Amino acid sequence: MTIDRRNFLKLLGAGAGAGSLYGCAGAPAVSVVSEILPKTGRRVVVIGGGYGGTIAAKYVRMYDRSIEVVLIERNRQFVSCPFSNLYIGGIMKDLTPLTIGYDKLAANHGIKMVYDEVTAIDPAAKKVVVRGGTIAYDQLIVSPGVDFRLDEIKGYDPKQTPDVMPHAWKAGEQTLLLRNQLVAMKDGGTVLITVPLTPYRCPPGPYERASMIAMYLKQAKPKSKLIVLDSNPDIVSKAGLFKKGWAKHYQGILEYRGAKKVTEVDTKSKTVLVEGLEAVTGDVINLIPPQRAGHIAVAAGLVGPDKNWCPVNPTTFESTIHKGIHVIGDASIAGAMPKSGYSANSQAKACALNLVAAMNGKELTEFSGINTCYSFITAKEAVEVTGVYKVDKGAIVAAAGSVGVSPDLSELEAIYAESWLKNILTEMST
Ligand SMILES: Cc1cc2nc3c(=O)[nH]c(=O)nc-3n(C[C@H](O)[C@H](O)[C@H](O)COP(=O)(O)OP(=O)(O)OC[C@H]3O[C@@H](n4cnc5c(N)ncnc54)[C@H](O)[C@@H]3O)c2cc1C
Repeated sequence: MTIDRRNFLKLLGAGAGAGSLYGCAGAPAVSVVSEILPKTGRRVVVIGGGYGGTIAAKYVRMYDRSIEVVLIERNRQFVSCPFSNLYIGGIMKDLTPLTIGYDKLAANHGIKMVYDEVTAIDPAAKKVVVRGGTIAYDQLIVSPGVDFRLDEIKGYDPKQTPDVMPHAWKAGEQTLLLRNQLVAMKDGGTVLITVPLTPYRCPPGPYERASMIAMYLKQAKPKSKLIVLDSNPDIVSKAGLFKKGWAKHYQGILEYRGAKKVTEVDTKSKTVLVEGLEAVTGDVINLIPPQRAGHIAVAAGLVGPDKNWCPVNPTTFESTIHKGIHVIGDASIAGAMPKSGYSANSQAKACALNLVAAMNGKELTEFSGINTCYSFITAKEAVEVTGVYKVDKGAIVAAAGSVGVSPDLSELEAIYAESWLKNILTEMST
């Protein structure tokens, strides 16, 4: 849906309903059309306090302290998807090491936090609507992550199916649920992981998850089996390394089946159907649905002709659809860059740099980005893929010779991975 004035007023109406509900639930009743933070100077609003949004907010303030930054996030705490597979596999005892708050970030950089849900964006009026009112901006950065294309899975009930077949593709309650189901499963049970077609958040993520679950089964439930039903014809990232690791550690436990796209589910019989034909039943089913940009980006008409992802200028990350709105992280179409936390971090810095330059009438800097994705194969051994990215002929491409993977599974990579997580979460929260 492209958002014109009429659509925006309709969404305001929807917001008004939510606004009064919000009041009924105990919070002070507010008029949804009131500006909750009247603007006095230049302002950048950032939607989403995850891997992209925290860094964009911080770097705008670091580059120019005279610009006010408002970061809007629906949750008071953020739980990192990176390393959540280690919790599912039982290496990490709880999600505390993956959970960050926003107090220090806000205090250190003078960022104004608004804990609320953005329900609409009005590019013409340069306002976003939250449940509590409206917030005006001069420039907007949108980093809402992903949501799911549930209409592509027959029988999927958004209220009930995730309880029976958790996706655990947004970290938090879903991660806990999947782990609990694995712990409760009898020895001799079958676990299924279904992988959507690319592009999706974190290309190696499902295969790291398969490794972690296989590791847990090998230790705790050795008569059990894990089947990976991949919509893609083959493993989409670090394929050689995953295959090597699985052959070395998980033979007889982990069975990989490529080109098996799940199109239908039946929660009662705990069955998934491949292309509506081949039924596969599991005791624990980790159903990872196909994905698209976070709902707010779709509702605001920021997605391109594919209706899923947001086209952007590769140097500034400004939307090619709406001026003054920038999209970074998983939601954006960033050429060859994979949808990862590290990519989102890199894009946030480049976006902030050029946004501040443009606001101050200064020259723009060519985009240069980096990505490294680590994956654990066992509790101690990990592998990585790395790439450096630049703009060529209007698109983000990998710099020649920059993309590579680890030569082998290694304990050193696992140490690097742990330090990567510590650094990036500290950067996001301080
Ligand atoms: C299992 C798994 C493992 C992964 N491992 C790695 C890894 O090892 N390395 C790596 O680099 N990446 C990894 N990733 C990918 C990484 O998590 C994502 O690429 C990254 O989080 C993208 O950042 P983002 O800012 O686009 O979205 P997010 O980090 O998801 O942030 C989006 C934020 O926006 C908020 N939000 C959304 N809509 C609204 C709204 N309307 N109003 C208010 N707030 C809103 C959300 O609450 C959320 O906090 C992994 C992902 C998974 C699922």
